[in-house]
Amino acid sequence: MSSESPLPLIVSSPSGAGKTTLTARLLKEIPELRFSVSHTTRKPRQNEQNGREYHFVDRQQFLRLIEQGAFLEWAEVHGNLYGTGKAELERGERPRGIIFDIDHQGARQIKSAAPDAVAVFILPPSMAILEQRLRGRASEDEDTVQKRFGVALREIEHYGLFDYVLVNEELEEATKQLVSIFRAEECRRHRAARHAERLLAEGRGFGGLKPPSSGASSPLPLK
Ligand code: ADP
Ligand code: 5GP
Repeated sequence: MSSESPLPLIVSSPSGAGKTTLTARLLKEIPELRFSVSHTTRKPRQNEQNGREYHFVDRQQFLRLIEQGAFLEWAEVHGNLYGTGKAELERGERPRGIIFDIDHQGARQIKSAAPDAVAVFILPPSMAILEQRLRGRASEDEDTVQKRFGVALREIEHYGLFDYVLVNEELEEATKQLVSIFRAEECRRHRAARHAERLLAEGRGFGGLKPPSSGASSPLPLK
């Protein structure tokens, strides 16, 4: 139903649980989705490109954007500032959904601004595996890994805020679950209401079905 507004899909997790990997796979599976590119004061990782994963800005620029009221939500995470620009909602063609990869503080803010937003929390199978994945990513120094692992427990404490909780053990299975969540949420009654009402108006405009013209043979065998 292309006339419906894009479905806001929030994806959160403790760092290292796999939300970047899973959202990339979701985007590949449903290319009509759009990833909301946040602003951050964190330094880019080796494989990150300005404007693709994030808009990388310094603290001063970020504070100026806050003053200008440019953010839909923002928060301090792991000592850096992160925020979703209001302009992200307007950018480009209207997508089927917008993915927000944000923390629980941002999820709370987006949920209160857009109550139909669907929030998914991703958990690792175990804390030991979470630590392995954080190290395996090899994009951060030991100090950052320790800091992020330490914050993970506090992130997990907020799982109750989310509509869905997904355990990312086997990647294929977790991807299927995330895709299924999006597809099922698209079929929520309130999202289909406008279409259903349009069909009703159209049907009523017809004034009912016309009886078959006399002499026309029935397509069904009559007994
Ligand atoms: P996050 O975005 O939540 O911080 P990433 O998506 O960067 O996490 O994943 C952290 C690391 O774990 C990456 O190296 C990624 O390839 C790996 N990873 C993600 N999901 C799985 C999985 N189901 N099985 C094994 N490794 C995974
Ligand atoms: P990372 O530095 O690993 O990319 O992200 C660190 C944390 O910041 C993750 O939990 C991620 O979801 C969160 N984050 C990224 N962008 C935003 C944002 O725009 N707003 C908020 N609130 N959190 C964000």
